[in-house]
Parts: sequence; structure tokens; C-alpha cells
Amino acid sequence: MPSTDWFRWTHRDSMYNNFKTGIPTFIIKQADYFQSWLIIRLDNAVTIGTLTANELDNVNPEDVAASIRTTNLYATDERNTNLEHIYSGAFPTFEKWIDDGNEVRGISFILKETADYQRIHPSELAEFGYRFGDIESQFVAIHNYASHNDFVTGLPTFTEDEQNYVGALLFKQGFAQTQEIPFLYFVIQKFNFDHLNEQYRTNVILALEMGIDRFSNSPYLSDEEKRRLALAYGNKIFIHDAPASQTEAGRWVQNGDDNHIYINWGQFLDNNGDVNQSALAETLIHEIMHVAGYSHIEIPPNAKSPGCGNTSGDEYFDSPPLRAECVIGNNQSLLIN
Ligand SMILES: [Zn+2]
Repeated sequence: MPSTDWFRWTHRDSMYNNFKTGIPTFIIKQADYFQSWLIIRLDNAVTIGTLTANELDNVNPEDVAASIRTTNLYATDERNTNLEHIYSGAFPTFEKWIDDGNEVRGISFILKETADYQRIHPSELAEFGYRFGDIESQFVAIHNYASHNDFVTGLPTFTEDEQNYVGALLFKQGFAQTQEIPFLYFVIQKFNFDHLNEQYRTNVILALEMGIDRFSNSPYLSDEEKRRLALAYGNKIFIHDAPASQTEAGRWVQNGDDNHIYINWGQFLDNNGDVNQSALAETLIHEIMHVAGYSHIEIPPNAKSPGCGNTSGDEYFDSPPLRAECVIGNNQSLLIN
């Protein structure tokens, strides 16, 4: 049984990236410094809503197959206000919270015109890797079956008796897209953001993702530095708003196993209050290099970057944290980190 974290993190990452939701396919590839996961991004195919735990028969929210089955059956049952005219199915986001004393769960309702429900015989799925009782293999097989049959992708609904048929929602062209994302996109969602102004959460996540997207092919870090950087994201990392006394744009403080990164927002905001995402990404990858164990001397007075690629021999600008800044946009923006 896959962990519900994969679903929750894919959903959240998709929202950070301006989609309504996302769902993993469990198609995983090994890349140089981290795995890549193929995920489904959904926007115009879904309406996001909630159902109470009661409406879902109090199904165990950590049981992936049972939650998906119950949610699909609810959304397509005509007794539930004729929803079958609107939806071809529904999937839990695996988010839950208390609203007015009731436990509610996040639901992605799939609009009827965007996806077809099909009953597929298991023998048709065997060549795509389908294994009875293996949930991840069912996601993989139905995605591959769908894409071989001119759909974008597909999802198992777990609504049929699996011995005879497999229930699947198959998304039509234009109503879903797939994307390979680095596994590190999931890892950074485990950072602690409790001490960060909520309005900046998405900025931090997207700036971290910018660094993750760019470092593995960058000429500015060695293989060993990239390997250690990739591992460093998995540490216990707390992202904070900086105290008013902090002059640096970013600051890293280690306390036992805990790593604290303080962001001085005043250094990143333009006149409209918009965050300079590239500068933020430079600062964050610099601080993560500190988490990885790399350091630098204090910035010399009147220091000026010789330019990315020309830093050799410059003790400050050629240090690994400063070279990591170059990964983002060939720039060391001279914010003090
Ligand atoms: Zn530093």
C-alpha cells in the first residue's frame, strides 16, 4: 500500500505550481542525483471541494484504495444530488481537517466531459505491468494503457471486483498533463515552515524548486558537491522570517541536527512588494550548501563578483556556497548570505 504522503505532496506541489491538483502515476526513474517521478497535473478537469468523513462512510483516510473507491462511488451515485450528470469520478486529495466540528476531506471532482470511465479486463493491463493487489503497479499500468490508447493518462478507481474488471478514469486530450518532477520536490515539503509568514510559503517552495531544477546540469558545481547538496535537502530544515536585526539576506544557523534558515524579506521585495524569485533561489541554494557542510570566509570589504565562471582564485566567490548561487542564473547577486 503506498503512503498517502505521495498523494498529498503531489497535490500540494501542483497547487504551488498553479494547478488545482495533481496525482502521482508511480512511474519512477533514476536520474543522476535523485529520482524523477512522473505525476499528473490537473486544472480544467476538476472542481475542488470537500466531503465529510460521514459522507465517505468514515473510510480510513490512510487506506489509499478504499478512499479512492469510496470517493468515486459517492461522486457518481445519483442519490447524491444527481452528481452523476456532472462528474465521471472523484479522487481524494488526502488532505483532511476539522470544519465546524466535522472532519472534512479534500476531494477533486472530475468533470464528466474531461474523462471517460472504463471497465478494463485485467488481461489487457498485464502487458503494462498490472499486478493484482499491487496498487502502485495498477497506477503505472493504467497510465500506460491510457497513453497507448490516445488518452493523456488514467487512474484506477478501485470500484470494480478486481478479479473481473479494473475500473479506470481515462483523461481526454487537453484535460490533463503529465510532468516529470524531481523527487526532491517532495523532500522539501518536509521542511518546517511554522516560523515563516504564510504568504511567503509558495515563494520559498518555488525558489527551492528552481534550484533543484538547475543544479544537476550546472557546470558550476562538482559531482561531489551536487551529491552532497542533493542529500542536504533531506536534513531537518526550518525556514524562518529573519529578525529585524539581521542584515544579511539569508542566514543559516545549526543547532544539533536542526538547521535554521532565516530569510530577510526586505532584501527580496521590489517596489510593488513582489519577491525577486531568482535572488531568493540564489540565497536558498547558498544556505542549503551550508547545510551540506560547505562554508566560506567572511565577505571581504568592497568585494565584487568576477562573474560566474571567472571565480577561480577568489577565496570568497569561488567557495561552494557562492558557486551554487551561479546555478540559478549565472549570477552572484551580492546579497550577503
Ligand atoms: Zn553563507
